[in-house]
Amino acid sequence: MKLLVTGGAGFIGSNFIHFMRREHPSYELINVDLLTYAGNLDNLIGVQDSTRYRFVAADIAEQSAMEPLFREGVDAVINFAAESHVDRSIKDPGIFVRTNISGTQTLLDLARKYKVQKFLQISTDEVYGTLGVEGLFSENSPLAPNSPYSASKAGADLLVRAYHETFRLPINITRCSNNYGPYQFPEKLIPLMINHALANKPLPVYGDGLNVRDWLYVEDHCSAIDLVLHHGRDGEVYNVGGNNERTNLHVVRTILSELGRPEALITYVEDRLGHDRRYAIDAGKIRDELGWNPKFDYESGIRKTIQWYLDNSTWMERIATGAYRQHE
Ligand code: NAD
Repeated sequence: MKLLVTGGAGFIGSNFIHFMRREHPSYELINVDLLTYAGNLDNLIGVQDSTRYRFVAADIAEQSAMEPLFREGVDAVINFAAESHVDRSIKDPGIFVRTNISGTQTLLDLARKYKVQKFLQISTDEVYGTLGVEGLFSENSPLAPNSPYSASKAGADLLVRAYHETFRLPINITRCSNNYGPYQFPEKLIPLMINHALANKPLPVYGDGLNVRDWLYVEDHCSAIDLVLHHGRDGEVYNVGGNNERTNLHVVRTILSELGRPEALITYVEDRLGHDRRYAIDAGKIRDELGWNPKFDYESGIRKTIQWYLDNSTWMERIATGAYRQHE
């Protein structure tokens, strides 16, 4: 198979490329990524020299840059490319609409024109909005996004769905909960807190710290995507969740305790605007239909993650100094 992976220099996309190299070494992978601040070619050390892997620096919203890749023939598109940080979407929503909605639409048009066998859209549980203390998001939960980020992802999901309904494009959408693991850009909760704890700097926690997320170890997400890519029923949405609900405060306390740092480093800061209180996923459909199960619980996943950041301090330093952007 020949796969076009977009956003493969980001956190989940790069983990997916490593995963697919291991699981399907005969597959050909094209990684197209604009290398925004979130794109990091250091994440791909180890695969870069493979003859079955190619990197193309380009914008998914630029039809003229994308078309030659489709013209050479790809079997499937896995669309990870996105602006992904909620706080940035509150400051500057426009780029989220451009990449997440227009970029997806550009890819959909080309997937249709060149008859790709599968268009797999990587979406988020945030499209469902927020939950109270009870309940879980199912694939049938109404879309009720609360941030410009989640609204742009919901907009993309609706277009993907529409290309299936209108043009019979073979699509799937996966909606996953919060991922964590290696190669996550240190603006996101877990690597940010690890970084601050290691430097003995205050750990900024939004509001009362009691917002709940369902934590999914990134490798488990990759195995879910692999299954949907090969066995997902056309037109279907699959939720992917780790069944690991934890408050942000709990996560921060785990990191401090694993790193032997005092809880006094926790500093409460003004809450994020429109901050969703709780996300939780019912992953029954992907489990029952495709036999997916996460391998990592929160305790094993977080320990593995902390150890990875301890073992890869150079990766983190190159982000801190900006050196990670200086690729030829
Ligand atoms: P990320 O920000 O780490 O990576 C995004 C990548 O997309 C970067 O490499 C960036 O350079 C690239 N990119 C941005 N704009 C582009 C453009 N116009 N053209 C080509 N490439 C572009 O994000 P991530 O955390 O790896 O998330 C990947 C996908 O998964 C996103 O679609 C996101 O919405 C979704 N998702 C992420 C999480 C999570 O917890 N990280 C949870 C649910 C869903």
